[in-house]
Amino acid sequence: MQDLTIDGERLWSRLMEMAEHGALPGGGCNRQALTDEDLAGRELFMNWCRDIDCEIRIDAIGNIFARRSGSDDNLPPVITGSHLDTQPSGGKFDGIYGVLAGLEVLDTLHEHGVVTRHPLEVVVWTNEEGCRFDTAMMGSAVWSGNMPLEDAYALVDRKGLSVRDELARIGHLGDTVAAAGPVHAALELHIEQGPVLEAAGETIGVVSGVQHMSRHRLLIHGQEAHAGPTPMELRKDPVMALAKILPALYDIAGAHAPDGRITFGYLDAQPGSSNTVPGLLEVTVDIRHPSVGSYRQMVQDCDSAIAAACDAFALEYSFDCFWEAPGVEFDARCVTAVRNARDHHGYTGRDMVSGAGHDACNVAGLAATSMIFIPCEGGLSHNEAENATPEHITAGANVLLGALLELAGVQD
Ligand SMILES: [Zn+2]
Repeated sequence: MQDLTIDGERLWSRLMEMAEHGALPGGGCNRQALTDEDLAGRELFMNWCRDIDCEIRIDAIGNIFARRSGSDDNLPPVITGSHLDTQPSGGKFDGIYGVLAGLEVLDTLHEHGVVTRHPLEVVVWTNEEGCRFDTAMMGSAVWSGNMPLEDAYALVDRKGLSVRDELARIGHLGDTVAAAGPVHAALELHIEQGPVLEAAGETIGVVSGVQHMSRHRLLIHGQEAHAGPTPMELRKDPVMALAKILPALYDIAGAHAPDGRITFGYLDAQPGSSNTVPGLLEVTVDIRHPSVGSYRQMVQDCDSAIAAACDAFALEYSFDCFWEAPGVEFDARCVTAVRNARDHHGYTGRDMVSGAGHDACNVAGLAATSMIFIPCEGGLSHNEAENATPEHITAGANVLLGALLELAGVQD
């Protein structure tokens, strides 16, 4: 049983076939949640599942579950999956790989007549990307009780179309309740979306958890003034404070290297005129670290550095957290199952922490969970050029197969 391997060519050709739905000229995909393209992708997946006699159910938020019975079908399932939706100019692998590799595992078991003790379910989570409807990991959040169903239904896109109406329009407003039942274990296989594995020339990341992360809005109030007649020392210029804040905060990230992350993703000076001292500066600060202690220290140090810089110029400011996701420590048994499967195949790799959020973060609140990463080219994701090699695609799916068999058990 240990020597079972997946069919890498079939998996690769399915990834390419899925990418035809919403295909973009640059080789990427635009298959945003609950569009016609998303529907076509969902139907393609469900047809492949029906070919191997999986039972399919869709819940009230459109999450799809493809179930393969176990020898003891009353046992809670072992689940695996990810998402089929993409960013507006997304790639072929982010999310899709986790879904189609899960299906590939079921196909492999079907072909070899292997029956697991626990049932296996491959899940497609609705609207993971959160771009058309502005809540990332929406389907798994509802399923895990982290978001009320009605709140998700009420989200609207830029045209004012709601999640509920769009689910109904594409026929995926399912009739099973969008809430988790008992789950024995859960795995999510994903491209790394970062450069670490590729740079190290390694194949498999055993993911032990997800970073603590938060986003903050810094508003610094100044006074609009003419860029010519106003002497430098008489200005109330928020950018002068920013000039102290940027190096101070980069130093804080540096003090927590290599895992600390600080990003200024949005900077806006008002009124936005080249010959006016800005009256208001808005900057977002994204702060991340895998260790909760270091993460809290970074947030506190950022707070102090910003206060010192604004006080030095007597500027009023506010620095408020508008989004926070606590980190996740994955289940030791699931992490071990992934490591065992990797070692069995002799793939290189390392233990690592995910820098991005995934559906697995929501699932981990309810079930024993872990993740598997493979390298992606240049660490690129959310980009049409997102790419992975067939060898790595095959390796990750073999690790998923091995780990799922260990967790689900096999009939004698
Ligand atoms: Zn993803």
